[in-house]
This record gives sequence, structure tokens and C-alpha cells, in this order.
Amino acid sequence: MTERIAKPRNTKQRDMVREALAGAPGFVSAQSLHASLREDNTGIGLATVYRALAGLVAQGDADSLQSPDGEALYRACTSTGHHHHLICRSCGLTVEIEATDVEQWARRTAESHGFSEAEHIVDIFGLCTACAQNRDSERDAD
Ligand SMILES: [Zn+2]
Ligand SMILES: [Zn+2]
Ligand SMILES: [Zn+2]
Repeated sequence: MTERIAKPRNTKQRDMVREALAGAPGFVSAQSLHASLREDNTGIGLATVYRALAGLVAQGDADSLQSPDGEALYRACTSTGHHHHLICRSCGLTVEIEATDVEQWARRTAESHGFSEAEHIVDIFGLCTACAQNRDSERDAD
């Protein structure tokens, strides 16, 4: 049985944001996503981008996290289950990682304090190989 649900007016814009997010190599800010959408002449507003991103996160179609600077970053993740990220703070390149040790540690720690249904967010920010090499060669040039 198929049910026809009237699509809200903003669905098209949300799809544009979803596509732009899927095309990004890693976590991006709403501003940089907005900038790339503007380059494509979509005429989409920053507030709409924020709303669409919030909707995608709520639906589980996107991950969001805070950069060490406190900026909200978004990504269309390939894994839907619980996972962690390794993120280059220079170019935003993202690797999805499993962290079995962290899962066990988090559960044990919560249990030892009498906590149940514990959740955690663990993401690692660093420099990817390419960015570290760039930095090294810049340093050598000085
Ligand atoms: Zn992810
Ligand atoms: Zn990088
Ligand atoms: Zn975990």
C-alpha cells in the first residue's frame, strides 16, 4: 500500500542541501555549504541551509558535531549506525572510524557510576597526511 504524502514546500531546497553535503569531502560548516550552493546559483538563503541541515540531522541523514572552535559542522555520513570521526582541522577531510575500546570504556565507566543508556560523542581532530606535509614544506621554505 502506498500512501501519498504532500511534500512540504521546502523539500526541493532540502534535497539541494543534501546533495551539496553528499558532495563535500568531509565535515563542512553551514556557511561554506551555503557558499558552494550560491556558486551554483541556486539562490538559496543561509537560513534555509541551516533549517535544511537541522532537518537532515533530525532524520538521521546527516551527522553534526562541533569543531574545537565551537563551530557546528555537518556531513552526510555513509554509516548510519553509531560511529566516530577522524577529522582534518585544516581541510575537513573525514574518516569514519570504529572505536571498540571507547565503546567498552564508555559502557564500563557509565555502569560503574550507576548510569544506564549511556551515549557518547567522540571525534578526533588532527591534520591529515597531505595537510601535515604541506605544513612541513611551508616550514622548510622559510
Ligand atoms: Zn559520521
Ligand atoms: Zn587535511
Ligand atoms: Zn562510540
